[in-house]
Amino acid sequence: MAYRFLRFPEGKTKAVTLSYDDGCKADLRLAETIEKYGMKCTFNINSKRLANGQDLTADDMKDLMARGHEAAVHGHDHLACGIVSAAMGINDVITCRKALETTFSKIIRGMAYPDTGITALANGTDYSTVKPYLTDLGIVYSRTLGGDNDSFELPCDWHAWMPTAHHSNPEIFAYIDKFLSADPDSGYTAKRHPLLFYMWGHSFEFDSNNNWELLDRICEKLGGNDDVWYATNIEIYEYVNAYNSLIWSADDKKVYNPTLIPVYFQLPEKAYCVLPGKTLTISF
Ligand SMILES: [Zn+2]
Repeated sequence: MAYRFLRFPEGKTKAVTLSYDDGCKADLRLAETIEKYGMKCTFNINSKRLANGQDLTADDMKDLMARGHEAAVHGHDHLACGIVSAAMGINDVITCRKALETTFSKIIRGMAYPDTGITALANGTDYSTVKPYLTDLGIVYSRTLGGDNDSFELPCDWHAWMPTAHHSNPEIFAYIDKFLSADPDSGYTAKRHPLLFYMWGHSFEFDSNNNWELLDRICEKLGGNDDVWYATNIEIYEYVNAYNSLIWSADDKKVYNPTLIPVYFQLPEKAYCVLPGKTLTISF
């Protein structure tokens, strides 16, 4: 038995994803900018605000989705799950999910917590209440905040998915340099984990701070790298879920892929890909 590690599509060791909130008109400029660098974003939408049609419109978001971006739940009324009752939280999430699914004719399973999310708890609510109802409502992941870091780890708990950093973090370029220079295929064999760089924010902040050049500088470094997989949040989730769905023999010598996704992994000696519906024999 040897350690094995997930590799992203095409065997890549690194992935980058973005998450931007509140359905702002400036999302259009953000999308145009990141697309030049092959990057993708998850846009977290408040269904009430979308219905008002005063900012990002449904047609705008449909166009963004056609270009490969994701729409995710951000609460109908933008309520923080940690400080409202379960009944209020459930209503805000399911109303938003149903509205987005109807508007976009898509299955929507992603989310970013509005406001303080699960970082502040009050009124008798705690995370052990929130996670089960999100799961029951069909939300498979939800982005939290407040723990910027340079560990580049995939989440252990998808309903408390901590991003790498907000785009305005003063350490952002140091984080990017560390991410790009890391080589998960070398070094100590127990630490060859894949790396994810997850940046979040609000596109209107670039307008408010008059610093769109910051996004350009970030994208120039973080984007356009052949050894990085650029994906939306849900694409990351679905790929990792496929990896975790692989069925292994007791001796770890055979692996069956019951999913519809080619899945890549790395053993110390060799990289592998197990195709959908196929069983692979490990040669070492
Ligand atoms: Zn928000």
